[in-house]
Amino acid sequence: MVLVPPDERRSPRARNVDVGGAGVGVRHRKHSHNSKLLPSAIKLPVRTSSVSSTSSESSSSDDEITFAANSVKTGTTVEGAKKDVACDSKVIYEFGGPWGVSALMIGFPLLMAYLYICLAVHQGHLQNPLGWEFWQQGVPTIIPTPRAIAIYMSFTVFQYITAATMPGIKVMGLPVPSLGGKQLEYLCNGVATWYVDLVLVAALHISGWFPITSVVDEIGPLMSVAMIWGFIVTIGTYVVGCVMGRTHRMSGSLPYDIFMGAVLNPRIGNVDLKMWSEIRIPWKILFFISLSAAVKEHEVNIERDLQAGITPAVWSLFGGLVEMYAIQTSSTLLFMLLAHCLYVNACMKGEECIPTTWDIFYEKWGYMLIFWNLAGVPFSYCYSTLYLLNRSLANEPVVHSKMYTCVLYTVLLAAYYVWDTANSQKNRFRMQQRGTYVERNAFPQLPWGKLQNPTYLTTKHGNKLLTGGWWGMARKIHYTADLIMALSWGLITGFDSYIPYFYVTFFTAVLIHRVGRDHVHCKEKYGADFDEYCRQVPYVFIPFIV
Ligand code: NDP
Repeated sequence: MVLVPPDERRSPRARNVDVGGAGVGVRHRKHSHNSKLLPSAIKLPVRTSSVSSTSSESSSSDDEITFAANSVKTGTTVEGAKKDVACDSKVIYEFGGPWGVSALMIGFPLLMAYLYICLAVHQGHLQNPLGWEFWQQGVPTIIPTPRAIAIYMSFTVFQYITAATMPGIKVMGLPVPSLGGKQLEYLCNGVATWYVDLVLVAALHISGWFPITSVVDEIGPLMSVAMIWGFIVTIGTYVVGCVMGRTHRMSGSLPYDIFMGAVLNPRIGNVDLKMWSEIRIPWKILFFISLSAAVKEHEVNIERDLQAGITPAVWSLFGGLVEMYAIQTSSTLLFMLLAHCLYVNACMKGEECIPTTWDIFYEKWGYMLIFWNLAGVPFSYCYSTLYLLNRSLANEPVVHSKMYTCVLYTVLLAAYYVWDTANSQKNRFRMQQRGTYVERNAFPQLPWGKLQNPTYLTTKHGNKLLTGGWWGMARKIHYTADLIMALSWGLITGFDSYIPYFYVTFFTAVLIHRVGRDHVHCKEKYGADFDEYCRQVPYVFIPFIV
């Protein structure tokens, strides 16, 4: 059963809530020891949930929780809580409004299909997408097959089961304004599920029940299945949210609300679907695509050697008890495997930092997050891998000088280090400030990932803005590092095709949009304190340059 937050539908005029006046409903918290701090003007209504009497959200109906009370507990001032309420309720048109998002919803799947066909059928060369022949040749490569449906859906169901049942730490999210300030609990068992995945995939491959190479063998149909599933989940969640009257921050425009979503915190049982789909599905699939490609290339190279009468190199393990072919995967595909392994592992090991991010706290679960995570990320961020594999299968592998390859490996690892530790510094600092910090040792914990006594700026909102560590050098240095990694994913493929550079191009646009949006959000939330923060940390991406 999908559990969603209480409806906060308002008349269009009331959407921009007047936090200082009667625009926000009033409800008094019984027995609140913080009640002296709470002006009634920022108390929010909590409606009784009719979804399920066993749900964590419906149980909140018994409590008359006020947003401000919980916010104050996490360090936010009353003034800050008012701003958070205003921000959470305000409808803003992004991405060009209804027309812009309609174009994105139609255009993105078409673009993914187009780029895939260029890769699969035309060796990575861009073609005229208006030609009938192009689609005639290409569409058969992406028609869903029963096998692709079985692979994708088994993976998805398995990910849900492990998310719901594996052990992990429990972390509280931020007070949710539309739930009267309730903090939702998130079971962060990503690391355990990740290791189970690895063991299971190895067992399935070695036993021959499911060779991992099946993933790249079915990659076109898998992409279509993921896209269709993305649409089904988008529409399904929207309809369920509307039918059950659990919509939140609705604009009144159908395409815009489908794109942004209707519900804020959809859950099935103890699994938060928004966080689950953002962490468990895209990055794991991306990694398994690269693993599949690496194994495929290895097997094909061994086969070629054998056919040519060359004895492939053999590793003798455990004193000769086990003998296996030495790895015959190219350094370029191993690069992509490493890059995707680092990314997925970082998402799993730092999962407890996710519940307080903007996507989880503010964004609803609509096409943008659903389609993007279920289909967009795994099947469009993998172009470098597919390009390298196709070149190798065509017996035209991408080969670089040792120097070029070494430099790229170094750049990837250095950028990863900055990205990992910058995210870790900020997230751990924020968790410490909010009293939600949990010490974790998931592999690898990098030096300087947690700051001791960092400098920071205390805002009138109550939140503290970190000005130490990487965050004293540039305000979005983690974006820079992420972009450098994205660029390296393209550079490892050489310069014969644009398609492997699609990710870095697209990601640059995403991050530029995020920088602008976050600047507006922080300026609104922190006011003059944000100006002071920008004065203390004047650079955005690269220290002393920009
Ligand atoms: P940020 O990590 O930049 O988070 C922005 C929020 O962090 C702000 O709104 C503010 O929240 C808080 N904040 C900003 N500066 C400070 C500071 N100095 N001290 C304390 N808090 C601060 O944004 P994202 O969530 O967009 O990105 C997280 C990571 O995910 C990045 O590394 C990004 O590259 C990556 N990412 C990757 C994507 C991909 O497709 N590969 C897509 C999107 C992101 P508050 O209002 O609560 O204070």
